[in-house]
Amino acid sequence: MRVLLVEDDPIVADGLIRILQKSKYIVTHEANGKRADHLLIVQQFELVILDMGLPEMDGAEILRRLRQRGNKVPVLILTARDKVEERVQGLDFGADDYMAKPFDLLELEARIRALLRRGQSASSAVLQIGELCLDTAGCRATLNGEPLELSARELSVLEVLMLRAGRVVSKELLSEQMSSLGEEMSINAIEVYVHRLRKKIEVGNVSIRTLRGLGYLMEKP
Ligand code: CA
Repeated sequence: MRVLLVEDDPIVADGLIRILQKSKYIVTHEANGKRADHLLIVQQFELVILDMGLPEMDGAEILRRLRQRGNKVPVLILTARDKVEERVQGLDFGADDYMAKPFDLLELEARIRALLRRGQSASSAVLQIGELCLDTAGCRATLNGEPLELSARELSVLEVLMLRAGRVVSKELLSEQMSSLGEEMSINAIEVYVHRLRKKIEVGNVSIRTLRGLGYLMEKP
């Protein structure tokens, strides 16, 4: 799950990054409004957490431009508690939810989960191959119903392989996919992650085959 956090207050941002990473989301943080606007054009995210007061371009303008491009990514706006007009404007421009600062981190976590569920309900959030199951919205994988302990990066690699199950995925494509998710990964790193993933899932009936010179193939049982 890729989350873009647009927040220029370093203390608020640090706290948010910590809970988001704890929930295994891949977080891209941007403090500058204009750069955030650019990121939203060139990259895809499953959720945007957007502060309203930002340098160079404010949150309302980022949101307005995002929706004008037809992008329907769920957006949670962060507003100052006393600024009702900010909140109204944000919701008018197409925000899905808001949190007033200072906020309770547990409540924020719950709202994020709800938004992600809503965002994913249209598309299939659960990928399944044999006994291997990946809930992309909840960032959880299970094998035979037992939870798998996977890092955020392992989950991302698994998602790419599962989406292309039965087809060969080259290391270059995996590396490209990872960088489009904001996760720079070298070919060597890809090999390491696939190796780890294979060890974790090989007890089931799903396997990741290496095709020398071609890449990987996740085989359906
Ligand atoms: Ca701010």
